[in-house]
Amino acid sequence: MNDAIQAFERHFGSSPAQTVRAPGRVELLGNHTDYNQGLVMALAVDRYISLAVAPRPDDTVELISTAYEEPARFALDDLAKDPAAPWANYTKGLLVQLRERGVRFGGFNAAIHSTVPLGGGLSSSAALLVSSALAVRKLYPYVLQADGSGESVESPAPPMTDPERMALAKACQAAENRFVGVNCGLLDHISSLFGRAHQVIRIDCLHLTVDWAPLPADLEVVVCHSGVRHALVGGEYNQLRAHCESAARSLGVEALRFVSPEALEAGRGRLSERDYQCARHIVGENDRVQRGATALEANDLATFGEFLFASHASSRDHFHNSCPELDVLVELAREHPGCIGARLTGGGFGGATLNLVHATEARSFREHIAMAYEARTGQRLESWICQVVDGAA
Ligand code: ADP
Ligand code: MG
Repeated sequence: MNDAIQAFERHFGSSPAQTVRAPGRVELLGNHTDYNQGLVMALAVDRYISLAVAPRPDDTVELISTAYEEPARFALDDLAKDPAAPWANYTKGLLVQLRERGVRFGGFNAAIHSTVPLGGGLSSSAALLVSSALAVRKLYPYVLQADGSGESVESPAPPMTDPERMALAKACQAAENRFVGVNCGLLDHISSLFGRAHQVIRIDCLHLTVDWAPLPADLEVVVCHSGVRHALVGGEYNQLRAHCESAARSLGVEALRFVSPEALEAGRGRLSERDYQCARHIVGENDRVQRGATALEANDLATFGEFLFASHASSRDHFHNSCPELDVLVELAREHPGCIGARLTGGGFGGATLNLVHATEARSFREHIAMAYEARTGQRLESWICQVVDGAA
């Protein structure tokens, strides 16, 4: 948080009025299932986007980010997408959504600082949207209803309820879908808002419900960054989603959530080969999340870990959202006796792997994988142990 405050003071020459932060997330199991109305398990982790903000009187927004050189500046009556400062489109898109929901706000200055790797699969984009939404809520209090409508309220804003968190997650998703142009699901925004320390967030994207289950205490969450940066905007992500939707249409259902592994095989003849491979991944993931939840509840870590490895293999072989570096990382993880499971996490095409590792083995695991990764690819590996934390506030 201090970095955001310092950046604010340096650039704007005064102190911020408020600070907020929103965590990144690690997708534990359930890849690309969210926009297929499916099931997913996630963890909010101790990597944050922090915002230091202050109101200003002139209906202008000025944003700076420690990740970018140029500030972004725009008037509230001109919330058009700006190709020159794409990173500012997240906050801008969010403001458009709030306004459409009936929320009133004035101008503000904001400094952004992040410890969520950018484009690393831990969802910096959602952390940026959620922190922007909460920053506005602190400066210009509002409440969102479960039906999505909003209204401005007297200061201070009341504590957020879970239905309001869900409504806010949807507003963030709408900003990313409609303004930024990434057709992502709700996983990232829900995770950043609904995280709980030491708990797995279990999300049902059909019923839009969330519950929590403890993550076994003697495990560490090790994230290994491949060094390959993905670019989701306008990219392969939207194409994968289109294949999933096309498969669902051919099978006569609203979403792949409604397709069992048996029904998929029975309907295979109606699908193009690519649609089938994509559907196979999603249907398999929903099944693994369900069975994985049972395994976790029984503290059957070996079985749970096998679901993680199977999830990665399905990304690699069917969905094609892995890359050679991620495959190497998972292969190397599997060699280490302390690792119970590993898989790519997030959209894919680069970014990071998630590794569940026995706590006593975490150090040796990280040393092993760093050395072996460099030997195999010539690239230095960045890895870190993540704590599972509370959601944004
Ligand atoms: P991911 O969400 O997996 O990290 P995305 O491509 O969805 O990757 O989002 C990354 C984008 O989010 C960046 O290209 C940038 O536009 C925005 N962003 C992330 N971190 C920051 C930051 N610290 N400051 C400004 N914009 C950021
Ligand atoms: Mg993202």
